[in-house]
Amino acid sequence: MPTIALSQVRKTYPGSSTDAVRSLDLEIADGEFMCLLGPSGCGKTTTLRMIAGLENLSAGELRIGDRVVDSAVEATFVPPEDRKLGLVFQSYALWPHLTIERNTDFGLRLRKVPKAERIKRTDDVMRALGIEQYRDRYPSQLSGGQQQRVALARMLAVSPGVLLLDEPLSNLDARLRLEMRAELKRIHGKFGTTIVFVTHDQWEAMTLATTIAVMNDGVIQQMGTPDDIYERPANRFVAEFVGSPPINLIEQNANTPIAAAIASYLDGRLHDVGAVALTGIRPEAIVLHTDAKDVPQDSFNLRAVIEGVLPTGGSWIVEVRAGGQLLFMTTHVAPTLSAGDDVTMVVEPAAFHLFDTDGQRMLN
Ligand code: ATP
Repeated sequence: MPTIALSQVRKTYPGSSTDAVRSLDLEIADGEFMCLLGPSGCGKTTTLRMIAGLENLSAGELRIGDRVVDSAVEATFVPPEDRKLGLVFQSYALWPHLTIERNTDFGLRLRKVPKAERIKRTDDVMRALGIEQYRDRYPSQLSGGQQQRVALARMLAVSPGVLLLDEPLSNLDARLRLEMRAELKRIHGKFGTTIVFVTHDQWEAMTLATTIAVMNDGVIQQMGTPDDIYERPANRFVAEFVGSPPINLIEQNANTPIAAAIASYLDGRLHDVGAVALTGIRPEAIVLHTDAKDVPQDSFNLRAVIEGVLPTGGSWIVEVRAGGQLLFMTTHVAPTLSAGDDVTMVVEPAAFHLFDTDGQRMLN
């Protein structure tokens, strides 16, 4: 049974002519780590706020467990404090007049948890988040990132069954962010907490989620495992949004030599090549050969010229021009090639992503 279920949910803010969220169907199962991923303004925060009870629905129904907690039809609204959810938002409010320790154990005191257990849980969570050395300081004496960790600690201390997190790592530097991701993942594994996590950062979603819901313009574009989203993007938006450097897209009706070469390669392998409007090739799916005799038999191949090699520290992005289009490929082996070199680019048949005129994935 899903912990949280939204069905046909719409949210239109008063005075706004567009829907912040529409036709939203989302089921979050018990123990799931669900990431809501999408660009700024796509409706992620609105979705989270509706689950939290900080916004009501304009249409549809929201259930938590077997209880309807909001629906536009009936007067079913259950206020946030009765939904038994833990919340951390990007702008976290710590109590300015309380020390870090008192901020952390605030919820435990409120719930009248016995002293010995309160101290143990507070210590555990402060240690896990690396804030025990600040226990006697006040929030104004900490950096934004440190305060963010206190906000997380305060919420984790009460071990809620469901955690709602809105960009909770946004103020942390790269290393700490990575450490905190690992910590969150451990917490999820250890306590089986259901987590709903809002982020616009694809890597964050990829590394954390059991399920990702990619959103754009208030609509879920695709829901699936990180693998599904990356390997089988449902449409052009998802293909372009996820992946860095971004997927190479070839417009099949652009009348370029590369479009023609791909069409002729796919012909015979596909029933309806004419329906393919867009082909996608991930940068790591392109292999470059300098010697034509090394080119595998059944693969797509095309003459190409190196335009540039960009080192990114441990890996390289290579720009190649092939059949009238500039493409990016990535490699973890130091390239011996340089700008101006002639090569053959090779792509395995399974690596092509095919989309129709509406930008929807075709079965391939
Ligand atoms: P971000 O990553 O920038 O926070 P988001 O994906 O979380 O973006 P939302 O904050 O849910 O997006 O916003 C969705 C849409 O609703 C946007 O067009 C936004 O301008 C609008 N919106 C959000 N809050 C309100 C509000 N209180 N009143 C009116 N419109 C709002």
